[in-house]
Amino acid sequence: MKIGFIGLGIMGKPMVRNLLKAGHEVIVYDVINANIKALITDGAIEAGSSREVAEQCNLIITMLPNSPHVKTVVLGENGVLEGAKEGTILIDMSSIAPYASQEVYKACKTKGVRMIDAPVSGGEPKAIDGTLSIMVGGEEDVFNEVYDILMIMGGSAVLCGDIGAGNTTKLANQVIVALNIAAVSEAFMLSTKAGVNPLKVFNAIKGGLAGSTVMNAKVPMITEGNFNPGFKIDLHIKDLNNAIETGHNVGSPLPLTALAMEILQTLHADGCGQDDHCGIAKYYEKLTGTEIRK
Ligand code: NAD
Repeated sequence: MKIGFIGLGIMGKPMVRNLLKAGHEVIVYDVINANIKALITDGAIEAGSSREVAEQCNLIITMLPNSPHVKTVVLGENGVLEGAKEGTILIDMSSIAPYASQEVYKACKTKGVRMIDAPVSGGEPKAIDGTLSIMVGGEEDVFNEVYDILMIMGGSAVLCGDIGAGNTTKLANQVIVALNIAAVSEAFMLSTKAGVNPLKVFNAIKGGLAGSTVMNAKVPMITEGNFNPGFKIDLHIKDLNNAIETGHNVGSPLPLTALAMEILQTLHADGCGQDDHCGIAKYYEKLTGTEIRK
């Protein structure tokens, strides 16, 4: 099948490679030319704009930073809707605000383009392995039609509800991840300051109730002082902004998320926005003048 893919960053690149490995022809576009070139050697075909991608493909995947980028790529000049044929399916796998998914869906509908939102969890390692958790919003027949394609990139794909439900689910995921990293950082600083080696603490508690996928992934990074992204602090700020805005719209207070947001904002102001989100540990390290290291 011929598949269009727009947004070739940390996540997009390995997702394209998995589609290529599964035997699909992939037409790619990104505003950063080096990201396109990195995939040409793997067999992807370059397009000159999002519009050109849409002119050539009946299935288009977008993997972009946030709502404004998705609106530009789909609704903007030289965008997907300028080139798409009626019946085309757009799978937006970016993590964006649910209301933005609904807005883009409505614009797509006027052109006969079908759309689902399908953000992911799992980060770069699972994008490489093709085992992402995919949370989907949209119509069931469209979900069923693209299920096999989603499962090339994912280990699971769950239809959560109507358009926007995928991104609502992703916001819940991001709230839990941010608070979990903050809890892990706070607790591991406590044990470090009290003189207990953080790796001993990790090994002792990871199999108990406090254990988590976040703890397993992030404690080894923190104790090695490895804050290379991964998932960047600035992207997590974007997700918590979307969560807080959505929470206000639907009447669901998020006091702990607001606190995590201020920790992330402090790190951003301190020049750490491009660090991995496990850099939340650095917030505690700056407060105490102590590093959490093995
Ligand atoms: P990234 O910044 O590495 O990649 C985004 C890509 O989009 C960049 O290559 C950028 O040049 C491109 N882009 C931006 N505007 C464009 C436009 N107008 N036209 C074409 N290309 C454009 O981000 P990422 O880490 O790959 O994340 C992508 C999405 O996936 C985000 O919504 C993020 O929140 C989500 N996500 C990321 C991770 C992770 O661990 N990195 C995990 C889960 C979900």
